Amino acid sequence: MVFVDTYDQARSHFLLQAESAGADVECYQHPTETGPDDEGLFIDTAYLGMPDPKRLLIVISGTHGPEGFTGSALQSEWLSNPPDITDDAGILFVHAANPFGFAHKSRTNEDNIDLNRNFVDHTVLRPSNDLQREMQALFAPGLLTVSDLDGLGQELFAVVARHDIKQVTNAASAGQYTHDQGLNYGGAAPAWSNDVLRGIVRRHAASVERAVFIDWHVGLGPFGEPFFLCFNEPDEEAHKLVRHWCEEGMLDSSTGFGDAGERPEYVGIAVQGLAEELPPSATSVKLVVEFGTYDNITMLGALMADRWLRFAAASPLSEDDHDLKKYVIDKFYPKSDDWRASVLRHGANIHSQMLAGLQSWEIA
Ligand SMILES: [Zn+2]
Repeated sequence: MVFVDTYDQARSHFLLQAESAGADVECYQHPTETGPDDEGLFIDTAYLGMPDPKRLLIVISGTHGPEGFTGSALQSEWLSNPPDITDDAGILFVHAANPFGFAHKSRTNEDNIDLNRNFVDHTVLRPSNDLQREMQALFAPGLLTVSDLDGLGQELFAVVARHDIKQVTNAASAGQYTHDQGLNYGGAAPAWSNDVLRGIVRRHAASVERAVFIDWHVGLGPFGEPFFLCFNEPDEEAHKLVRHWCEEGMLDSSTGFGDAGERPEYVGIAVQGLAEELPPSATSVKLVVEFGTYDNITMLGALMADRWLRFAAASPLSEDDHDLKKYVIDKFYPKSDDWRASVLRHGANIHSQMLAGLQSWEIA
């Protein structure tokens, strides 16, 4: 039951578990968009704990559409067996940060904005460089089927042979603000989700001095294993603390990016933007936690397929296109029982470790 097949089922399950846990629930409906069956689209929140907490754990699902099934399952599982919380702490569950992408099983939002590249100052111009333009052209083929994706590795290696691998990784994944039908497009203005999420954090965090953000994702890392991206600087106290809270070796963002060996210089990450809504005196841990599925080239192919289905495929979808859609969903939400069992086990551990860490974090 916890791993479901539609946004609507995931939402119903989350709300049911939130209610049975006695959480305070709030629902924010998207003003214009609906799901594939005309259902309403919502960002829902559930809050456990006393009002006005000094310590707040914020657990987010669905920043990238189909990755939401996993984050939602982890949230609902925790709500179904809620932890003891100290009097000065609270847990805020944010369900379906990008409900359009979740419902339509596509990474980006209603405007093809990658929500996890949207939290930038949009008054600053960010022109593309030549390599970004080259990569976006590669990502937008005229025709695409599942078998075409086999050749992607060769094409990428040809680009890498002519450039520094780190530049290629950055051009492909860090975020871009010029190609509105491209991959990793950060948008030209704050998305609806961005505004709603900022408001949610602001209202719940007015008295907060210590916060931990966990934004659940899927894709990077070994199959079924957690892969941490910490968005605190390595020399920050919060970075050192979270290493201490985690099981040894879990906080490792230096692998999982293929031959590049280190992660792209991501721009506009949600947990970084949301931390700006905490009181100025507050300190926070900002984590994206991924569960690995397939290798990086396969995942890039899945993103290309997702993009192609949105902008290039004919409507209604052909049989080949339906195969592509299944391909995309499988890459971000594997049906494997082993994968799902591993995710549940690690996810529950990480929730407990982060709550324990937050509750033990010294407040001067
Ligand atoms: Zn993601």
